Amino acid sequence: MKILVAVKRVLDYNVKARVKSDGSGVDLANQKLSMNPFDEIACEEAVRLKEAGVASEVIAVSCGPAGCQETLRTAMAIGADRGVLVESEAVLEPLAVAKLVKHVAEKEGVQLAIFGKQAIDDDAGQAGQMFAGLMGWGQATFASKVKIEGDYALVTREIDGGLENLKLKLPVAVTTDLRLNEPRFITLPNIMKAKKKPLELLKAADLGVDLAPRTTTLRVEEPAARKAGIKVADVADLVKRLKEEAKVL
Ligand code: AMP
Repeated sequence: MKILVAVKRVLDYNVKARVKSDGSGVDLANQKLSMNPFDEIACEEAVRLKEAGVASEVIAVSCGPAGCQETLRTAMAIGADRGVLVESEAVLEPLAVAKLVKHVAEKEGVQLAIFGKQAIDDDAGQAGQMFAGLMGWGQATFASKVKIEGDYALVTREIDGGLENLKLKLPVAVTTDLRLNEPRFITLPNIMKAKKKPLELLKAADLGVDLAPRTTTLRVEEPAARKAGIKVADVADLVKRLKEEAKVL
């Protein structure tokens, strides 16, 4: 069984996002970009399934500019066997990503596709679900446990009320929640090995896929600066202020 893992290159989670001076988006120039944290979990899970003898090959796929090759190398350092970059300089919305990943999934004949539950830059949480819809596959989102048994995937999902256990016939799309696993530390020898693994380059524009955005960003703004807090004298003072100033009691 081949597994596809979708990996997105995003602004590193430790970096404070800065808005471009013209308000058109987040400034990524000269910023540290890394693999979306939920996609690291997706890679780790795919590699564990391969190590357990369940999968024969793990293919990492990224859609975006040439720099995403670095993210694919990270996926290969975690243990993916090879990478596919679907190159595009355009802004890719989740629907466009889902269509591009579909192209690769069909070409490779994968049985399981693992996505992150959301990309920490757009927070859309849509690409995995749209992919499953386009493929006509079952989907299990927010997975905290994945097990493959014969032709079925047994997935535990994190939902509001607790945990939900699903049994789905393969092929299946899964999106990862935080507690699925803890990604391994990437060692230097594995970084060196990853440099030699195959990385295929495809041009998104050659794939006959409609990549046109369905939404328009009107303006991106910094959140309003928080006002300084105050110290209250005692509980009575707190209650008085909540009643009279904040008017929330
Ligand atoms: P989103 O729907 O944008 O929140 O993204 C959800 C998941 O889809 C991510 O965690 C990735 O696994 C995958 N994904 C989104 N954008 C891309 C991309 N440009 N390239 C590869 N995978 C992506």
